[in-house]
Amino acid sequence: MSWNARIEIALDQRRQASAFRRRQPNAGGNGRWLAHDGRRYLNFSGNDYLGLSQHADLIAAWQQGAARFGVGSGGSGHVTGFSATHQQFEAQLAEWQGYRRALLFISGFAANQALLAAMLQAEDRILADKLSHASLLEAAVHSPAQLRRFAHNNPESLRRLLNTPTQGETLVVTEGVFSMDGDAAPLAALHRLTREHGGWLMVDDAHGVGVVGEKGRGSCWQQGIRPELLVLTFGKAFGCSGAAVLCDEATADYLLQFARHLIYSTAMPAAQVCALQASLTCIQQADDLRDKLAANVARFRAGAGQMGLRLTTSSGAIQPLIVGDNQSALTLAQRLREQGLWVSAIRPPTVPPGSARLRLTITAAHQPEDIDILLETLNGCSHRISE
Ligand SMILES: *Cc1c(COP(=O)(O)O)cnc(C)c1O
Repeated sequence: MSWNARIEIALDQRRQASAFRRRQPNAGGNGRWLAHDGRRYLNFSGNDYLGLSQHADLIAAWQQGAARFGVGSGGSGHVTGFSATHQQFEAQLAEWQGYRRALLFISGFAANQALLAAMLQAEDRILADKLSHASLLEAAVHSPAQLRRFAHNNPESLRRLLNTPTQGETLVVTEGVFSMDGDAAPLAALHRLTREHGGWLMVDDAHGVGVVGEKGRGSCWQQGIRPELLVLTFGKAFGCSGAAVLCDEATADYLLQFARHLIYSTAMPAAQVCALQASLTCIQQADDLRDKLAANVARFRAGAGQMGLRLTTSSGAIQPLIVGDNQSALTLAQRLREQGLWVSAIRPPTVPPGSARLRLTITAAHQPEDIDILLETLNGCSHRISE
């Protein structure tokens, strides 16, 4: 088969399954509003849970940082890319989270890939929640270690896997708040079991940090555990981008030797670190925003419940409406868009087959009337969701 034929066949398969993905250029705004093709939409699709991506303090910090440091870091952290500002922010993150060390990564995807690649050897095993994010599962599949998946949020299922014999080390992998379902992992139970078997727990808290836990410290803080490896990402509630791995002293030094994404990739610009520092300050003081988010979510769930929509157990910002087949999810998203609401249909393989959904996200930037508009609009097309 030629390259061209292979590419055409793969594209055709995607089209026939209503799974063809395309991007739509956003002409501005990414908080409450989003502009596209000359029209303004209420945004129920992003991960900017506290609305910080548009915050004046973050914007000013990034601008001032760029004026002071320039826009590029000039190299990997091992060459010129690690500044005193990076060092200071890593120390702030470590102190905030109660760890000895934090290491900055360019993205959560890179952090997860780097971590799994650096930590695991052929005799080891990765035990991952079945619904773990693609960045985790993909890295696990490419790892020389054995990958086994436990049933979603099910400590008993993990226990059965832990009880099977192994030669090497065990790394248990889960998320704090799951990206597509919005539910929280039973972290205390998972951590206890993992430790009983001498393993380490890695938690990816992309959707928990900033939103849950005292002062936004995240899911682990909320549930009273400190996993051996914690990944925080800055593209969601932090309103920016980048990631950090929190760990002990020796593990950080080990990652600086063996995490290839740290060594062979240009470091985050110092100006971006300045914006992240401003974001951290906001997050620590954002109890009012977290309260507003909770009130918006409660308003949505109460209204959706009255309408008879099938909600999940998520009590957080991610409120999926499971539709089922791909085409219905796409049609529904399209109808909402015609009414001025920006909502994404999420289809397999991002979610399990037959569980195509609208992944609605509620944020602190929404006003109560925005939630009411969402509910009224959904009500207009709800026979497609509740049947
Ligand atoms: C978004 C996300 C990532 C990837 O983080 P980026 O910084 O966007 O690369 C990793 N894990 C989970 C659970 C996510 O939702």
